[in-house]
Amino acid sequence: MTLQLKDFAAEHGIKYFMISYTDLFGGQRAKLVPAQAIADMQKDGAGFAGFATWLDLTPAHPDLFALPDPSSVIQLPWKKEVAWVAADCVMEDKPVAQAPRVLLKRLVGEAAEQGLRVKTGVEPEFFLVSPDGSVISDEYDKAEKPCYDQQAVMRRYDVIAEICDHMLELGWKPYQNDHEDANGQFEMNWEYDDALATADKHSFFKFMVKSVAEKHGLRATFMPKPFKGLTGSGCHAHISVWDVDGKTNAFADSAMPFGLSARGKEFLGGIMRHASALAAITNPTVNSYKRINAPRTISGATWAPNTVTWTGNNRTHMVRVPGPGRFELRLPDGAANPYLLQAVIIAAGLSGIRHQADPGRHYDIDMYKDGHTVTDAPRLPLNLLDALRDYEKDDELQDALGRDFSSAYLKLKRREWDSYCAHFTEWERETTLDV
Ligand code: GLU
Ligand code: MG
Ligand code: MG
Repeated sequence: MTLQLKDFAAEHGIKYFMISYTDLFGGQRAKLVPAQAIADMQKDGAGFAGFATWLDLTPAHPDLFALPDPSSVIQLPWKKEVAWVAADCVMEDKPVAQAPRVLLKRLVGEAAEQGLRVKTGVEPEFFLVSPDGSVISDEYDKAEKPCYDQQAVMRRYDVIAEICDHMLELGWKPYQNDHEDANGQFEMNWEYDDALATADKHSFFKFMVKSVAEKHGLRATFMPKPFKGLTGSGCHAHISVWDVDGKTNAFADSAMPFGLSARGKEFLGGIMRHASALAAITNPTVNSYKRINAPRTISGATWAPNTVTWTGNNRTHMVRVPGPGRFELRLPDGAANPYLLQAVIIAAGLSGIRHQADPGRHYDIDMYKDGHTVTDAPRLPLNLLDALRDYEKDDELQDALGRDFSSAYLKLKRREWDSYCAHFTEWERETTLDV
């Protein structure tokens, strides 16, 4: 039976619902609706002027309605009188095909028609920085190898533990928190789930981390490469595919190399085959390419991939198979839209299964040190424009994600690229002034 949000309000003392949807750029847009008005909103949705957000709509379009999905409702652990609920965009009673959550639901449905249920865990990394974003927030945090720095993580205990307590309260089963490999950078992990549930949690996580950081006078950023010379923020996705009952892992086969079943390898084959187009979605900003193409830092690694290669338990490639029955896609970054990230993984993976795609040979080498020895390994796109061009050429992925979505996305992202090209950097002045 569908949960009635007005009953949820009565039971949990909710005064306001935040009806929230995510636009193409990953921005979360919400209306705060008093609990007294929620019953009608649950039926008809909250009205928005769609063109005011990044969905490629115009002022001539009719109202956009965000229909809350009650199964996603979360009482804000840090503001108990408010509940967040993810919403699906509709216009004139039809789903808005390019809206990320609508798109993901469609792909989850397509996987289910094939008897498959994709489960993912995401690992969003983030920095805690000063309110103006210019420096990391901890002036003691200067070690050359700061990963797992005990002293540094304890200096941010109040923020990290508060967020982790919230995840415990929400039943997300968080299991570890650490200081990551860049000064000022952290990662918090919770248990994997169905793709849609993970996307909702991922969105909410970003909202929660930013909110708690702000409460402590700091700012949290998921920007892919906020500081030159420091490792960027990835958002690795651990992927497995299960039977529809969710009980049997269709990727697991202990008789096969890496414990990855034939179906798992085909799904992986789809990811490999569509990788450079996929990057347009998983690495969606100009800045994203400074993470994957940055020169190696002092410790010899950025831990981000720059080639379309896969491997066993080795962190220097695009895909790592750390153990049986799943693999880790290390390409996505902190700017990835939580819904589109899951959607494009499903789209590429299903295409792999359809074509019985071969992921190609795997590599055992340290790609950072010996990458030059595999000169035929395709490089990931060098910048956003290359990725958009690869996406444009990938008819199959465009069809799978939908032409409405693809043309809206390409149009808005090309606009972003043009805006970038119209800007000048200090580097240009320094290197070109005296030509
Ligand atoms: N920060 C690294 C990246 O950009 C990942 C570090 C890790 O392996 O957790 O992907
Ligand atoms: Mg990490
Ligand atoms: Mg990882």
